Amino acid sequence: MKRVLLGLLGAVALLVAVLLARAASMESRQIDVAPAEPLAVDAAHAARTLAGLVEIPSVSPQDPADFDRDAFARTHTYLAGRFPELHAVLERERVADWSLLYTWRGRDPTLRPILLAAHLDVVPAVNAGDWTHPPFADVVEDGVVWGRGAIDDKGSVVALFTAVTALLAEGFQPERTVYFAFGHDEEIGGDEGAAAIASRLSARGVSLEWVLDEGGAMTGGFLPGFERDVAVVGIAEKGSVAIALDLDAPGGHSSVPPPHTAIGDLSSAVVALEENPLPAGFDGVTDAFLDHLAPELPFSFRVVLANRWLFDPVLGRVFSGIPQLDAMQRTTTAVTIFDAGVKENILPPHARVIVNFRIHPRDRIETVRDHVRRVVANERIRLQVGVRSPPRNPSAVSPIDGPAFATIAASIRAVFPGAAVVPYLVLGGTDARHYGGLTQNVYRFLPFRLDTDSMRLLHGTDERVSAENLARGVVFYAELLRRGAGAPGS
Ligand SMILES: [Zn+2]
Repeated sequence: MKRVLLGLLGAVALLVAVLLARAASMESRQIDVAPAEPLAVDAAHAARTLAGLVEIPSVSPQDPADFDRDAFARTHTYLAGRFPELHAVLERERVADWSLLYTWRGRDPTLRPILLAAHLDVVPAVNAGDWTHPPFADVVEDGVVWGRGAIDDKGSVVALFTAVTALLAEGFQPERTVYFAFGHDEEIGGDEGAAAIASRLSARGVSLEWVLDEGGAMTGGFLPGFERDVAVVGIAEKGSVAIALDLDAPGGHSSVPPPHTAIGDLSSAVVALEENPLPAGFDGVTDAFLDHLAPELPFSFRVVLANRWLFDPVLGRVFSGIPQLDAMQRTTTAVTIFDAGVKENILPPHARVIVNFRIHPRDRIETVRDHVRRVVANERIRLQVGVRSPPRNPSAVSPIDGPAFATIAASIRAVFPGAAVVPYLVLGGTDARHYGGLTQNVYRFLPFRLDTDSMRLLHGTDERVSAENLARGVVFYAELLRRGAGAPGS
């Protein structure tokens, strides 16, 4: 007995030793870089420029009839007026009337160009009365720019162009051609703007070295006891499909009902879908996310993440309990619309429910459709795949072992010293996916520091960005242009 107990203790001690040793031997995947070269940025001027751009209500409306042409015309005029040096050097084209494509010619036409994307449109500002300052006003207060679009994504437009202006002032000329692509309908899918820019470049035979759009950000303080900045860089984005489930029933008077009405049967289908989500897993992007994040975390977290052969099932359950993390490990199921019934004493002749799935890169539209058919297991329920907007598959996953990702990571580390750069799966949609046909290197990162609070501001009330945050974004884009488009070795 004693011997068995000793043997068991020995095995446990060995296991603990292995776990600790693996945690201790994890190597950081962060690259060492020198701090960014200094750049003369007038942060207050950039903030005033952004405030003026935010004042123009370039809203993407749900109903195309409400499109405000004047706001986009004013946006174009405003940019030309605020960035005269840039407009004297770069070529500007209007695409699909309201999107803009700028070309900064590189000295070496044999090098593949890079493309930096942002968007000119914003989501509407609902509850304008709840805002501290009006959502479309020219407000800079105590070094903070207030208003719809201050971060998403006019902050990026202004930071990009301020960076180009600063580089022009230094006499910088890119080696490779740089495109700036500003769509006008990102918030409703980008099917007119970014899609048209991509097909125009494609028609010209352009093949890109890499693309950077919004989608990731500099985040901090999201894990208790871990204050370091983490730059999440999107290397893929999820797809999306809405599936409608329709059920017809005989109808009739409610005084002689069957055991289940159309509403009851469809409710069973909804319960089945919610209780049987699509499978989860730590493959692909989520695997890369954990591998890059783990070595940077405090030791207690590292013990778990360095020993995923043992802890993955536990980790999976932890992820499942937190919606933000669960969305990274699987295709999510969200029942968003339920429509049935005509009168309280009539059996419903029809019931319809719409379920929105955000598709993980391992799945496809057909995977989701088959899953629904199997889980619902009711031949009387008809499926309609794609309801209002066309379904879209997840983007391809961009590589993290090539020079493009390394350039972006190095630029981040040069401007945000000590930040951990971590590849990430973008849960929403961006214009970036439209450029997937021009290069396999599509990345998503907005160089602003967003804490958990400001994440909520993006499409919500009181969107704002500090001039300091904006200025750091300018330095980042300048560094990225020097590293990504400058002379080799310079
Ligand atoms: Zn955006």
